[in-house]
Amino acid sequence: MQVILMGPPGSGKGTQADVLSKKLGLPHLSTGNMLRREIAEKTPLGFKVEEIMGKGLLVPDDVVLEILAKKLASPECSQGYLLDGFPRNVAQAEMLDALLAKTRKKIDAVVNLEVTRDEVVRRLSGRRTCMACGTVTHVSTTASNACFKCGGQLIQRQDDSIESVTTRLDVYEKQTKPLIQYYAQRKLLKNVTAMGTPQEITLRVLSALGLSF
Ligand code: AMP
Repeated sequence: MQVILMGPPGSGKGTQADVLSKKLGLPHLSTGNMLRREIAEKTPLGFKVEEIMGKGLLVPDDVVLEILAKKLASPECSQGYLLDGFPRNVAQAEMLDALLAKTRKKIDAVVNLEVTRDEVVRRLSGRRTCMACGTVTHVSTTASNACFKCGGQLIQRQDDSIESVTTRLDVYEKQTKPLIQYYAQRKLLKNVTAMGTPQEITLRVLSALGLSF
C-alpha cells in the first residue's frame, strides 16, 4: 500500500503518519525529517539545504528526489509506505509517477488533511520539538522545557518562527495546493477534516482509506 499524506504545514501529516505507520506496519517516509537529519549530521547536502529550509522555502526537486529514491528502493519499503511531505509540487508528483512506473507500483490513495489557516498558525507557532528524539508537542500542553518521553530539550524549529510559517503557507498555496486537483483527477484524493484531536483525525483517515481498527 502506497499512501501520500498531504496538507498545509501544521495539518498533522507527521503526527498521523506516525500513528498509521504503527497501525499498518508501513514505514513513515518524511522528506522533512530526512533533510533535517542531513543538517544534524552536518553532511554536504545538509549545508546546502539548511538556509533554504530555515526560511521556509522548498529545497530543489532533484535534491529531495535523490534522497527519497534511495529510500524507496530499500527493502524496508517493499510492502509499501506512507509518504509525508512529498510530493510538494506538480513536478515532484510527476517524478514520483515516473519512479513508481519503473517498479510497476502505484499510489493507492492521497489523504488531504484540511485545516484552517488560523489553526495552522496556532499549531506551528506553539510547536516544540525534542532535540533528542524528535517528539513533537505544543506549548499549551507542556509545563516544562523537557520532553515528556525522553527528557531531551524542547526547541522551536527554526522554520516554525512566525516569518517562516507565513512563507511556508504561501509556498503551500502556490506550489503544493495544485496537487489537490492533480490527484482528484486521478481519483486518488481523500479529503479529511483535520480539526479536532489527533485521535479523532486518525479515525477519519482510517475510514477514508476504507480501514477500521
Ligand atoms: P516538513 O517537515 O515536511 O514540514 O518540511 C520542512 C521543510 O523541508 C520544508 O519547508 C522544505 O524546506 C523542506 N522539504 C521537505 N519536503 C520537501 C519536498 N518534498 N520538496 C522540497 N522541500 C521539502
